[in-house]
Amino acid sequence: MTEFGSSLQLSLHEESKTMLRDGIFTRTVDGLKIHGVICGWIKYRNAHVHSVLGPYLVMLDPTWIDWVPIFSWIIEHPEGIIVIDTGETAKASRPDYLKGTGLNGWVNRQLARFNVSASSDLSARLQMLGIRTDHVRWVVLTHLHLDHAGGLGYFPKSEILVSHKELVKPYIAVESFFPSWFSPKPVGYFDEIGGAFDVGHVLTEAGDVILVPTPGHTVGHQSVILKTSKQTFLFGGDACFSPAHLHSGFIPGINLDRTQARQTLERIRVFVKENDAAFLPSHDLQSVRKHFLGAVPVPAASFR
Ligand SMILES: [Zn+2]
Repeated sequence: MTEFGSSLQLSLHEESKTMLRDGIFTRTVDGLKIHGVICGWIKYRNAHVHSVLGPYLVMLDPTWIDWVPIFSWIIEHPEGIIVIDTGETAKASRPDYLKGTGLNGWVNRQLARFNVSASSDLSARLQMLGIRTDHVRWVVLTHLHLDHAGGLGYFPKSEILVSHKELVKPYIAVESFFPSWFSPKPVGYFDEIGGAFDVGHVLTEAGDVILVPTPGHTVGHQSVILKTSKQTFLFGGDACFSPAHLHSGFIPGINLDRTQARQTLERIRVFVKENDAAFLPSHDLQSVRKHFLGAVPVPAASFR
């Protein structure tokens, strides 16, 4: 991590290093523990985030953004532990990563750089939290990109939920990396939930965890709503990069369908406003700091 030009970038980097040391944020609401865990770091070319260029032109940009975290979310729900996205694994940091994985692997290699240590991947993070991977009931994938599905291999016993549309039409996913047993439950959205999203897939019997379609970044991208009596959360995956991006409404060209992406951002804006929801995209440290107030990373031992 040496490519930092401005002092602003440097200060963010310093802060990021502090977080990296521990990398777990926990908030307890209504007795429900919610963990935001950093499963390594990723960076993209500037054009990926700031231009309307598609992936093949983005990869020509020689400049890169600063490293951003790869977040996974863990909800210790009374009906079972829920994991939202599985991050990446340490193999992503190897130089030969994605070698021999065909066109999509090559495209991913051009578009992103990873920095993931063995101690920061999701299995290690769960261990720090005293949670066994085979005790995870549900794994919800917002979409099938590497930095969201890379840790799938740790969950052969969990029910894995992926949007039906994402399975039918994945976008720059490296399918050869999926475990041989990978057979996710295709999600459709047939439950009327009203409000900004109108329909969703209610996951829990309590009705407090709902998957909603947020297409655009990929055709089958989905997000996850968690309702508690005190706070509503929206785990937004890659629907956008940050709240600033959400409110600016700028749609980078890397999104597969920019029209859908625009509609999705509008729905998210309405939902967040109507519910005073905590919006948590997958790669924004500031959002996590804001909503996991006092979120000084807690030593792992205190969770055991
Ligand atoms: Zn993505």
